[in-house]
Amino acid sequence: MVKLNYINKNFSEEHIVLYRQIDLQKTITKKKLYLILDLDQTLLHTITNVTNFDSDEMKQIISKKTLQKNIFFVRDLHMVTKLRPFVFDFLKQANDLFELYIYTMGTRDYAKVMARLIDPHGTLFGWRIISREDCTIPGKKGLDVVLADEKAILIVDDTISVWSNHEKNLIKVDGFNFFGTGKDMEEIESKDDKLANVLCLLKKIHARFFDIEIDVTKVIDRDVRNYLKEIIDRDVRNNSNVPRM
Ligand SMILES: [Mg+2]
Repeated sequence: MVKLNYINKNFSEEHIVLYRQIDLQKTITKKKLYLILDLDQTLLHTITNVTNFDSDEMKQIISKKTLQKNIFFVRDLHMVTKLRPFVFDFLKQANDLFELYIYTMGTRDYAKVMARLIDPHGTLFGWRIISREDCTIPGKKGLDVVLADEKAILIVDDTISVWSNHEKNLIKVDGFNFFGTGKDMEEIESKDDKLANVLCLLKKIHARFFDIEIDVTKVIDRDVRNYLKEIIDRDVRNNSNVPRM
């Protein structure tokens, strides 16, 4: 039995395999794949244990309109979160092509608070929010607790080491650090285009996966990991802006 805490259910291995097969059929029919998204430093930057919301750093943020954009003071949890530039456009457009999951090493409570910030209407992720409590190997993220076929999954994360068994599914994105870097925050805000680059790559892979054949029985045998590798290799050859580099 595998305990999937995030949906509060026990599944047998056979049941999970069957679920993945059926779900893959449905997802492919909708011309979608699966996309697993890390939170911290990928979609947002949170600082915790904030006791002084009136520090010079916070005052600087409050005094500048450009910095106030998409910043959240979660006072009861002593946290401040800044969403990465372009995150709402990224999620909206990615949602047209993928079933979206959150997968974080943070706690479930933290994941749910962050999910409300990036998905205020609750339309993008639904129950697909996986957190530290769900991991079967401490300190590692695994696709064993994801109810999707790994040959149709792409992962976007700033940390490679947690995905040691699934690097072929992984698009590594440069980490987003907004607070406490000593750098000019307006510059960080205006120059971070990483999510736009990743979206561009995701669209290429999706288009390649679904090209030519519209017969679901043929598409379903494809493996998105091959297309990720193919497109990364091609972009490296052409010197395009490659997020994984
Ligand atoms: Mg991260």
